[in-house]
Amino acid sequence: MNNLHIGCHLSSGKGFYAMGKDALKINADTFQFFTRNPRGSKAKDLDLEDVKKLRILMEENHFSSIVAHAPYTLNPCSATEKTRIFASEIMTDDLSRMEYLPNQYYNLHPGSHTGQGIETGILETAEMLNKIIKPEQTTIVLLETMSGKGTEIGSHFEELAEIISKIKLKEKIGVCLDTCHIFDGGYDIVNHLDKIISDFDKIIGLNNLKAIHLNDSMNTLGSHKDRHACIGKGNIGIEAIKRIIHHPKLSHLPFILETPNDLKGHGKEIELLKS
Ligand code: FE
Ligand code: FE
Ligand code: ZN
Repeated sequence: MNNLHIGCHLSSGKGFYAMGKDALKINADTFQFFTRNPRGSKAKDLDLEDVKKLRILMEENHFSSIVAHAPYTLNPCSATEKTRIFASEIMTDDLSRMEYLPNQYYNLHPGSHTGQGIETGILETAEMLNKIIKPEQTTIVLLETMSGKGTEIGSHFEELAEIISKIKLKEKIGVCLDTCHIFDGGYDIVNHLDKIISDFDKIIGLNNLKAIHLNDSMNTLGSHKDRHACIGKGNIGIEAIKRIIHHPKLSHLPFILETPNDLKGHGKEIELLKS
């Protein structure tokens, strides 16, 4: 399949251009990276020359959109105000930096309500996004579908739809569907893919679906666990994964592997999925 847009999560340690080079090494035309240390410490100063070199590489090699991932420890709907303020500050800074790499995606976990209840969680996350999303930004913010472990919000399509319904600048928001997370969240994409895609369309709208995290799962349907497995090595399996990447409603999207693999291993997975 030649039109498949696929890549993987890459380490940002050697900079932006190095990630582009790594992507090319494994025949990827998209990739994901953490905007900073996943635990959310201070980000390095942007090397504008390095960013520019990546932009040129992406253009020359016809890259699909790439995905920046917010530190996964940020919690925009924590019961603790300090935690919410920290999330807001980091995401504001991330989004301003993203403008040096315009028209890409910024993916975040919608948060954990830490006992406040799902409704409060949804409200707080939407409120925060309304404060930090600016009309002039070119970046689209993606809410990731979650597995529902602990007090996570966003494991039901309805919850994501509710957040989106509260966002003022709707053209700046979208969804990234993580196959491991929704499987662990109870959506049977192995046996009922069509039904789940049509439910997604009815509840969230397929126009809001911008990217896929393509992962197999170490756990079973509805386990609410979130442990990624390599492609074909988990309970989703290669056949179901093939149906996902070839599905006419999904096949145009960028697919990002977040499987427990190194660059070489990701290259092999990409080769397998392209064959
Ligand atoms: Fe994620
Ligand atoms: Fe993910
Ligand atoms: Zn995950």
